[in-house]
Amino acid sequence: MSIRVDHLYKRFGDFVAVDDVSLEVESGELVAFLGPSGSGKSSILRIIAGLERADSGSVFFAGQAADHLHARARGVGFVFQHYALFRHMTVAQNIAFGLRVQGKSRADQGLRVHELLDLMGLAGLGERYPRQLSGGQRQRVALARALAPQPQVLLLDEPFGAVDARVREELRHWLRRLHDEVHVTSIFVTHDQEEAFSVADKVIVINRGRVEQAASPADILDHPATEFVARFIGDANVYEGKALGGVVPIGRLEIPAAGVTDGTEVSAVLRFYDLKFWKEDQGIARVVRTMTLGDRVKVEAVIDDGPVIYSQFPRRSSLLAGIEPGCRIHIEVTLARLYPKDAGILVSTTPPPA
Ligand code: ADP
Ligand code: MG
Repeated sequence: MSIRVDHLYKRFGDFVAVDDVSLEVESGELVAFLGPSGSGKSSILRIIAGLERADSGSVFFAGQAADHLHARARGVGFVFQHYALFRHMTVAQNIAFGLRVQGKSRADQGLRVHELLDLMGLAGLGERYPRQLSGGQRQRVALARALAPQPQVLLLDEPFGAVDARVREELRHWLRRLHDEVHVTSIFVTHDQEEAFSVADKVIVINRGRVEQAASPADILDHPATEFVARFIGDANVYEGKALGGVVPIGRLEIPAAGVTDGTEVSAVLRFYDLKFWKEDQGIARVVRTMTLGDRVKVEAVIDDGPVIYSQFPRRSSLLAGIEPGCRIHIEVTLARLYPKDAGILVSTTPPPA
C-alpha cells in the first residue's frame, strides 16, 4: 500500500509544527523520517495514522484520500517507544490482542501467534509475561503485536529509543530482516542518523516541520540538498565566509570556491573526513588535541588567525605521522560544500584536486 502526503499543515496555537509537507512512500518500502527532536516527525506520523487531524492537506493510501477515515479503519500497525505491552497479559495474549478485536477464531489466533513468535525469534516465550522479558524481547513482542492483524502500513515512532545501544543495533537488524520477509509499507521515525541509514531504503530528512531532502542514504551523504542536511548528517566543520578570488578565506585556510562570484556570503560545510592534515612546520594551523575513537583518530587544530577545525583519520593513516599537540600542520580541503547565505541551495562542491 503506497502512501502519499500532500501539502500538510498543522499548527499548535501559533506554532507551525508541520509546514507544507509533501512526501511519498512506495508500496513495500521502508522509509525513515530523520530529524532533530521537535522537528515535527511524530506529528506527521500521527496525521498519517489518523490520530491527529491536519489543518489542511491530505493523506492518500494507495491513491485514495484517507482523511475522513478513522485511525482504526486505516489498517495501520503502530510501535511506539512508550506504547507499553499489556502487563497482565502473556506474550501470546499481547500478540493476539488485535486478532481478538477483529473477532478471529481461537484457532486462527493461535496459528498467527505461533507464526509471529517464530518470525521474531521468540519461540517458546509465548506464556511469559512482559516483566519476564528483556527490553529487546519486549520491543520484538510490540512489533509482533503490531504485525499480527496484517496491517497494510506499519508506523514506528522511535521504537527503540528506550533500549541500550547494543540491543538497539540488534533490533535494527530484526526490523530490517522482518521487513525483507513481510514487505509491509513502513515508516520509521528516528533522530539517530545511523539508525535511519542502516535500516531504511529511503530517508526523509525533516527540520522545523519541513522536508529538507528525501533520497537514498547514499545520496543524502554524497549530495546533501541543503545546508541543514550537510550540517546534520555526518560530522562537519561549518564556517561563515565570503568568496574572494575563487576561495573562501577562513583565517589562513583557503576553501576552494571556483566559480563563486566575489562577495557572495556562504556557509562552508567541511566534513571531518573531507580534510587532510599533515605535519609541516610552514603550515597554516596548530594541533591542539588528538582523540582516539576506536578505529579512528579525531584531530583538533586551530587555523592561524581563524577558528578551530576538526578532521578525522583511520587510525593507521600515514597522515597521522608526527601529528601531536603543538605541532604545525598544513590542511588540504578535498571536498567543500558551499551554501549561499540566503538561498540555502548548494552552489559549489569542490572535486578533489588532481
Ligand atoms: P518530533 O517527533 O520531531 O520530536 P513532534 O512532531 O512531536 O516532533 O513535535 C513538533 C513540535 O510540535 C514540537 O515543538 C512540539 O512541542 C509541538 N507539539 C507537538 N504536539 C503538540 C501538541 N499536542 N500541543 C502543542 N504542541 C505540540
Ligand atoms: Mg517524536
